[in-house]
Parts: sequence; structure tokens; C-alpha cells
Amino acid sequence: MSEKHAKHDTATTSATNAPDYIDVALPVPTRQLYTYELPTALNTPEVQVGERVVVPFAGRQLVGVVLATNTSTALSADKIKAVISRVSEQYPLPATLITFLTTLSQYYHHAIGDIFQQALPILLRQLDAPDMSFQTRWFATAKSEDEALNSISKSATKQAELYQVIRHNQTGTSWPELRTLGFVKQQLTALQNKALIEEKEIVPEPFRWHQDDLNQDNRLKLSPEQAIVVSALNQSHQSFSCHLLDGITGSGKTEVYLQVMEKTLANDQQVLVIVPEIGLTPQTLSRFEHRFNVPIYLHHSALNDKERLDTWRAAYRGHAAIIIGTRSAIFTPAHNLGLVIVDEEHDASLKQQDSFRYNGRDAAILRARQLNIPILLGSATPSLESLQNALSHKFHYHQLNKRAGNSVQASMSLVDVNQEHLTAGVSETVKQAITDTLKRREQVLVFLNRRGYAPAINCQECHWVADCQRCNKPFTLHQKDQLLVCHHCANQKRIIHQCEQCGSTRLAPVGQGTEQLEQHLAEWFPDHSVVRIDRDSTRRKGELTKLLQAIHNKEHDILVGTQMLAKGHHFPDVTLVVILNVDGALFSFDFRAAEHMAQLLVQVAGRAGRASKPGKVLIQSQYPQHPLLQDLVNNGYRHFAQQTLAERNFARLPPFGYQVLIRAEAKYPSYPSKLLMALNHLNLTHCNIVGPIPATMEKKAGYYRYHLIVQSEQRKSLHHAMLRVIAFLENHELTNKVRWSVDVDPLDFSW
Ligand code: ADP
Ligand code: ZN
Ligand code: ZN
Repeated sequence: MSEKHAKHDTATTSATNAPDYIDVALPVPTRQLYTYELPTALNTPEVQVGERVVVPFAGRQLVGVVLATNTSTALSADKIKAVISRVSEQYPLPATLITFLTTLSQYYHHAIGDIFQQALPILLRQLDAPDMSFQTRWFATAKSEDEALNSISKSATKQAELYQVIRHNQTGTSWPELRTLGFVKQQLTALQNKALIEEKEIVPEPFRWHQDDLNQDNRLKLSPEQAIVVSALNQSHQSFSCHLLDGITGSGKTEVYLQVMEKTLANDQQVLVIVPEIGLTPQTLSRFEHRFNVPIYLHHSALNDKERLDTWRAAYRGHAAIIIGTRSAIFTPAHNLGLVIVDEEHDASLKQQDSFRYNGRDAAILRARQLNIPILLGSATPSLESLQNALSHKFHYHQLNKRAGNSVQASMSLVDVNQEHLTAGVSETVKQAITDTLKRREQVLVFLNRRGYAPAINCQECHWVADCQRCNKPFTLHQKDQLLVCHHCANQKRIIHQCEQCGSTRLAPVGQGTEQLEQHLAEWFPDHSVVRIDRDSTRRKGELTKLLQAIHNKEHDILVGTQMLAKGHHFPDVTLVVILNVDGALFSFDFRAAEHMAQLLVQVAGRAGRASKPGKVLIQSQYPQHPLLQDLVNNGYRHFAQQTLAERNFARLPPFGYQVLIRAEAKYPSYPSKLLMALNHLNLTHCNIVGPIPATMEKKAGYYRYHLIVQSEQRKSLHHAMLRVIAFLENHELTNKVRWSVDVDPLDFSW
């Protein structure tokens, strides 16, 4: 750092005293950079690209990132304001990160200042200098392991476990890691009071690999299939290549990740692992921690601002050897990145669905390409985009077709609900299968992707339905909380007992949600414990970890839940998976609905029979003959995916064509469609326009909403068209009366 400054100092002295100008990315919704004058007094040492400065903007002070320095400007002097101050700490954004974010802003047609804003930890976006002390990490004290374990009471098994985790990791373990592993503060304090562990501030030096940083204990001998992938990646080391690992659930993808990482780490390079929002389970983290004795840093929604800043800085300084995080971890400025892994690359949560709508997987591929390093995408149900890239040899394609170890894949079958008597939406076949499974003392997982007690209540006399006025959609009944909640806008009110139209008191729930299912299962199987896992039951911090732990300890026999249960978790004793109500996706207007349904079904099914016991999956449907369901059940995901790809090709839909979705909404009903309609006159080369059409939910939270899709078979044409579209929208008379946004490569058409 000081050397750099010295060099620039000499340059400044030889220059004239005229002020310089800088272009700054500011956290405002416009797509431009802003030019400011840099007073000479502020320019020693010389301002660097990537630094943050405080500037005046519309009567406020904002922190912006310097993206260019110039000795002159075409703007007239009276238009230009002066920089107020420089943010002095030592974290200018690296050039590679600036290039990356700038490319993203062009690709996604999103305001550059907002992207820089989202890429920075909150504490680095503020005017005041944050607390720059470094996070402490926990270490075992000098006591021998035996002595230490003897001083922990036999009943405090969690304390003993915690001690071993900390003792094992000689680079120290942070509180966010321990919390993610399911430990609580009291356990930590107990060990500290016994002087078995101590807190130390660490020096964030670049990590160096040592021979014994790899723990051989539980390193598995790879199957031939796995070994091929690892060696392919080892050969791609040090240059860009993208690999798709298409491996059925339980085929040992994680083991492949771990062994691929060895070579990168041994080369003193950092590894970035991107997981879906709820993909980082304690078991997964624990496998990383056990395998590598190197600093691991986390980046996910359960971290506070200081913890995020710590991860960011540890990455920046090259101290973090492994960074595991959700999509925005792609913005951590890892100083010496050697490998990127994206787990569950198909997962919709990798795509940010508001403001800056980027896809974490695609951004990760771009980053790897710019850094010239390999990237590994893994999934049991690859997205059709990635699968097509693999089939057309843009990606290296690797398959794992067998479950690892001695476990076998579950068998899937369909239950025709037209042929059966249903109680609370559950068929006799399913009930019998649950009974049989419970008799064998094995666990059952019942999947229903709808939380609450019932998705609507209506009047038995006049058929009135309790609707959310802001969305014109039924309220979901939450019996336990005695609430009616709108799942679209979170509007809620106390439960009502009288029809608002005819005054009758005969109000009844319609349909089933997880809360009701839990209640019925508990009635039908009174000798067994039922546990529900969804957003409602896991709202309290640490609750999910606790419930999952209880499931592993076999405290519960029946697991009811939404897609929260579908992802990442291993339930070795679950041998029956029941899937209720998938039919909605079969007749959806959204061309991706079938793909997403298939992925969800296969992921849920993958929870069954993870250990040595064979699993069974029952799918209840009103349309068991539907070709999509038949194909999936009889021929598996890969066949289904290839069929679906052929259909997409025929219709020139993604991944064979490219789309941008423009959303527009306003409180006044005719404005959004009027604004979008005007785009039809633009005459865009090699592009066609679909719309405007009302969104599936035409009204939400008081806003009227419309869609328009611009599509093309050529990305370039689409990109050029979008420049014109955006310029047009920005200058339209309705632009300030309508909220509109641009979504490149949209995944979700529900809004
Ligand atoms: P995935 O990530 O594909 O779901 P995992 O890597 O979690 O699969 O592996 C599933 C199970 O198989 C784990 O319990 C893991 O320890 C085991 N496993 C993975 N690879 C091997 C192997 N080569 N030999 C034996 N067991 C393995
Ligand atoms: Zn009524
Ligand atoms: Zn609503």
C-alpha cells in the first residue's frame, strides 16, 4: 500500500495545480455516473479508482465509489460540485471487482450505483467509519483433550461436542460458524468459565496451506464416477472452465466438492462456495470444518452487519481460505480466488427477485471467467439452461448416476385421487403407507407447499370469500394465531366469525395448509409425534436448527412441511415421502412451471432412504396420466429435462431464445399498460414483444400490475433493444407515475 502511494505522490508533485475530476457511482436509481471536482488538497495521496468518497447530492451527503479519475471534464464548471471527503480506511475495491460489477450493470441493465451499493457491506456504505476491530475467534486452551473432556459433565454432550469442534480447528472458530452449527451462547460461556476455551483477536494475514490442514480421517475413497470429476477439475486448475456436476441426490457431490477444493487450497488460493438460501445446513458446514483446518468464513442472511464486514475483509485480505455464502457472496472481494462452486445451481433462490435482479449462478460464471479460474456447478436437478450448455459442450458435463455408499434411490409412484376417498386431502393409500412405515419405526415426510391452516375461508350460505382488499385474493387462515393473513402482501387481520356479505356465522375453511395437515395427522396417529417445518413454525431464531436436531434424534415420527424441508437436509430415517397437491404446475401459463415442479418433486423425493433403508415416494395427483408426471416418474429427471428441452427448442423459448421481462405497476389502473403499450411502436431489430399482459395477480397491495416481454434469439440484439427500451421508458411522460423495472433472464413470472 505505502509503496503505491509513494509512486503516485511523485506523480502529483510534477503535475499542475489544476483540480482533477472523478466519476463516482452513487447509491441512486439512475443508470449514470456523476462527476465531481477533487480539490487538490484532498488529492494527496492521489485518489485511486475503487476508493470511496463522500460527495454532496441533492442536499444530502452520499458515499460513492470512484470509478474513474480525469484531468479535465466536458461539463461546465458551475455544474460541478466538489468532493467533501475521502473515506480513509484501507479497503479500496479491487480492479477485478470493479470490472465484474460494471459488466453486471451492463448485462442486467441495472443502475451501476445501486449495484456497487449492494455489493458493499452495509458498514462500508455509511458516512461514519465503522468499528474496524477484527472479529475474535475461539481457540482451545493449553489443557489436554482428556483433561478438558473430563471436566465437562457427562450429561452436557453439546458442550463436549462444542469443545471438540473448537479444539480441532487450530485456526480458530468464529461465533457465526458455531451458531450455524447449532450451538448456543450458554454452551460457549460454560466452556469459557471452565477455562477450556479462549477468545483471541486474529491477525488477518493471507492464509498459507500446511500439509496437515487436510484431515484424512473421514476423507472418502472416491467412486470411479467421482474420481473422474475430481481429476477433470484438477486438470482445469488455473484457467477458466465451467463444469456441470449432474448427480442424483446422495451420489456424493459434496465429497467431490471437498476433494476438488484440496488442490486450490494447497496452492494457497481461496475457494468460494455459493449455496441457496437455506442450503447451508449444520451437517454441510460441519463436513467442511472437519475436512479442512483453514479459516472458513460465512456470508448469509443470519449474520449481523459487523459479521458481514468481517467476512468481506477476511476475503479481501486473503485470510479467508473458504467463503461459504448465499448469492451475494459472489461480491466478496476475495483477493486470491482459485475456485468457485455453486451448489444446487438450479435453485430459484440464487436469483434475486427484487431491485437488482441478478442470477447468482450466472454472475458466478462471469466472475470465474474474468478471473480465469474454474467453476463447478452441482445439482441433482440441473436447470435446463445449464443442461443445455452441458449438452452443447459449452460446459464440461459430469454425471453421477449411483448413490454413494450402500444407499439406494427411492422408488416413485403416483396415487390417483379420483379413485380414492380423501380425508382432509389425504388418500387411503397414503394413510396405509404411513401406518406401515410407522410400524417399522421409520420416519415419514409429508410435503405440502402451502403454509397456514387453509388457503381461504368462505361463507356456506352465500359463498362469499374473505379477500384481501389490496390484492383481490383470498386470505389464508392461520388458526393457531387466530389470524387471516394475505400471503401476497402480508396484510393481516383478526379472524372473523360472521360473513361480511350476508351476516351468516357459517364460515368454513376451504382446502388444506400445513397447519391443518399437522393437526389431522396428529389425530390419525395419536401414538406418534408430528412436527411441522415451514416459515411459520421456524420464525424464531435457532428454531429450525432445534427442530432438525429433534428429527435426527428421532423425537418425531412424522414430518410435515413446505419446501423448507425439500432442500439440502439429510433425514436418514425417513423412508416414506408423501407429496400432496402438485397439480397446479401442470396447467400453468408459466413455461418454467413444469421444470420447477419436477425439480421440487425430485428434491423432496431425494430426502427418502438416504441411509441403507430403501425409500418410497408417493405422489398424489388428480391427473396421474398427465405426460409430464408419467415421464418424470417412469423415466426420471434427466429424461424429463431432455424432453422439455426439445419442447423449448421447438418454441424457441429459453435457453434457445432470450428474454427480458419488464414489469410495470401503478395505483391508477390504466397507466402501466399504457406505458408498456407504447413500446410496441419501437420497431426493435431481431426482437419481438409479447404484451402488455396483466400479471397473474393483476392487483397486489393496491397496485395494478402489467408485464411485457421482449425476446430474441440473439443476446446481442436483445441487449441493443434494451438500451432503446430503457431510454424510451425513462423519457416517457408516465415514467414517474409508474413503477417499472427490467428483469434480464427472468425466472419468475408470477410477478
Ligand atoms: P450429495 O451431495 O450428492 O447429496 P453427499 O456428498 O452428501 O451427496 O453424499 C451422500 C452420502 O454418501 C454421504 O453420507 C457421504 O458421506 C457418502 N459418500 C459420498 N461419497 C462417498 C464415497 N466415495 N464412498 C462412500 N460414501 C460416500
Ligand atoms: Zn354469506
Ligand atoms: Zn394482500
